[in-house]
Amino acid sequence: MSPQSEKDRAAWLRGPSAQCEPAPPNGATDALTAWRLVLLGAPGVGKGTQADLLNERLGACHLSTGDVFRAAGSPSDCEPSPAMRDALGYMRRGALVPDATVWEMVRERTACLRCGGGFILDGFPRTLVQAESLQQLLDNEKLALTAVVNYELPFSEIVARLGGRRTCEKCKAVFHVTERPPKVEGRCDRCDGKLFQREDDRPESIKVRLEAYERSTAPLIEFYKKRGLLLRVAAQGSPDEIFEITMTDLKSRRAQQLAS
Ligand code: AMP
Repeated sequence: MSPQSEKDRAAWLRGPSAQCEPAPPNGATDALTAWRLVLLGAPGVGKGTQADLLNERLGACHLSTGDVFRAAGSPSDCEPSPAMRDALGYMRRGALVPDATVWEMVRERTACLRCGGGFILDGFPRTLVQAESLQQLLDNEKLALTAVVNYELPFSEIVARLGGRRTCEKCKAVFHVTERPPKVEGRCDRCDGKLFQREDDRPESIKVRLEAYERSTAPLIEFYKKRGLLLRVAAQGSPDEIFEITMTDLKSRRAQQLAS
């Protein structure tokens, strides 16, 4: 399976009327081998970076709900609906977007979950209600998650990471001013797009986001542990080191699944 480039996320970023280029692999042929992952962890723990690295290695698309909301807020990407405009208000404050809005957006993109290339969900689900809705949808589609990776890091380190994070305007690749600096300051290594600091990476929003994580998202760890899907990874070290640990854990998980 060849790695999918950023362009291939058109259907996810712009909605079901957009077509991915080139067309993704057929669902039926890859139903058993595609990777279907959920990445958990507090904001700033490095899920986006790991999702990009996993995308390059596994070919499965990086599906970030935050990227969809940000794309909706960028006039060049698409015209936001009233619900999306409302969602952007929550996002700018660092608060969670209401479950009904998030679910409507994900449900419209069911084809991305059904995609033969698999998927790497980043930033979704974020509440128990969302996790239950996703479970129901996957059951209906006769699809199963391969694993749920929970990235763990102390909050003090998270705050330092979020403050230095920079994101590419065009392809959404994630850099850090000290930990993962781009080769040319302010420009993306991949597509030469301009790097910017997200509004919700500013100090006042960071506090709200971490509180929302503790209250709403942390309970998902137990939810997926009970279902035997949870893999815990310490998000300390370089992105490449964390990635290699993730891959080792994922491969042994898959080997166990195939043996059982
Ligand atoms: P992220 O890029 O995943 O950190 O998401 C950025 C912002 O988008 C979050 O702080 C929320 O405001 C909103 N958001 C993204 N995904 C979700 C979700 N699954 N549920 C609620 N809000 C979300």
